[in-house]
Amino acid sequence: MSQRVSVVSLGGTIATVPDAEGRAGAVIGLSPQDLVAAVPPLAGTGIALDLVDLRRLPGASVTVDDVRAAAQRARELVDRGADGVVLTQGTDTIEETAFLLDLLWTDPAPLVVTGAMRYPSLAGADGPANLLAAVQVAASPRARDLGCLVVMSDEIHAARWVRKAHTISPSAFTSPATGPVGHVVEGEPSIWWRRPGRLTPHSTIDSKVRVALVTVALDDDGGLLSAIDDRYAGAVVAGFGAGHVPDTMVDRLERLAARIPVVLASRIGVGPVLTATYRFAGSESDLQSRGLIGAGHLDPYKARLLLQVLLSAGADRAEIAATFSAAAQG
Ligand code: ASP
Repeated sequence: MSQRVSVVSLGGTIATVPDAEGRAGAVIGLSPQDLVAAVPPLAGTGIALDLVDLRRLPGASVTVDDVRAAAQRARELVDRGADGVVLTQGTDTIEETAFLLDLLWTDPAPLVVTGAMRYPSLAGADGPANLLAAVQVAASPRARDLGCLVVMSDEIHAARWVRKAHTISPSAFTSPATGPVGHVVEGEPSIWWRRPGRLTPHSTIDSKVRVALVTVALDDDGGLLSAIDDRYAGAVVAGFGAGHVPDTMVDRLERLAARIPVVLASRIGVGPVLTATYRFAGSESDLQSRGLIGAGHLDPYKARLLLQVLLSAGADRAEIAATFSAAAQG
């Protein structure tokens, strides 16, 4: 029996065309039918496609509710017989949406996110090749039980580790800490490694639960922290290096952590937040002794989403700390 894959489109560069005045890059005008029609080799794969036009948004405007709706639709499609689901969307937010989908997705079926760095009217547009590879991965039994994957430039990345590491390059997506989990070669997906466990803390997220993200910079006095008022249920601080802030911020952070869960991540984006290597005021061990929770290997954007999922489920500080500690193990 032939494989069946659903393609759900959310918008982004891959679907962006000129407007009525001919101004390039102006409208998200392509339907999933148009996207598929631009990839003739898809017909030769023998994979049956179901197409869903869910949203037409730039990546920057995708919301947590849109991601929840996409996960819900993907689940329905799998329940109705899809072997896997491809989500096309703007690359600007893929590293976050894919991670959130990964947290919410407990089904063994592959859930694959792709997009394009160059829109269809640009020379060397990458959308068609990315869509073809993404469909091939979503149809592959080898990609089962891997959570959410990001397929770009024939590379298969785990949502847990992927980052957008260049503003315009077609090879913008990398997994700097681990490398990709696999590759698509001549239409065949290969998976090189599987992670031992997955983070699937709770299967929903409440967009009304707000989590602040504050990035620390040179000679920062932490003034922005006072803007974190009762609207926020939690906060992530993206510190320097392995989790450090200026000593002038320490008291403010300690007071904030007494009020709401505060996760300490690194603005570097790759590598762990340490726990017990430095002991100066504002060091990782000092901050964690004052109640901040280390983000482990999660970058600030991913840590923020994990904290939001946990807070949405009513998790207390102990569960939040235990979940981030599990994430620190890989
Ligand atoms: N540059 C973005 C993209 O690749 C624009 C967006 O995220 O919508 O799709």
